[in-house]
Amino acid sequence: MTTRGHVPQRSCIACRQAATKGELLRIVRTLTGEIKADPTGKVPGRGAYLCRKEKCVQIAIKEKKLERALGKRPGDNLLAEIAALIKQAGPE
Ligand SMILES: [Zn+2]
Repeated sequence: MTTRGHVPQRSCIACRQAATKGELLRIVRTLTGEIKADPTGKVPGRGAYLCRKEKCVQIAIKEKKLERALGKRPGDNLLAEIAALIKQAGPE
């Protein structure tokens, strides 16, 4: 028997690559219908996951993947909000 713990995996809605929750950025549609980035992963609501890469974020928004995953079109400021978050974290 192995003692390896189960790590829940999510996949990026843009490139479909699987990763752990900590490696991905969560985007949430909150209970009030607002769509925003959720770096803590704790905001209640419907979530979608994205790689912390500007390319995936752009694909998700421009190809309406985020809209489909969350059931609502994100605001125009979301791309800038996420881009700022990714830059804060710095390169790997
Ligand atoms: Zn991705």
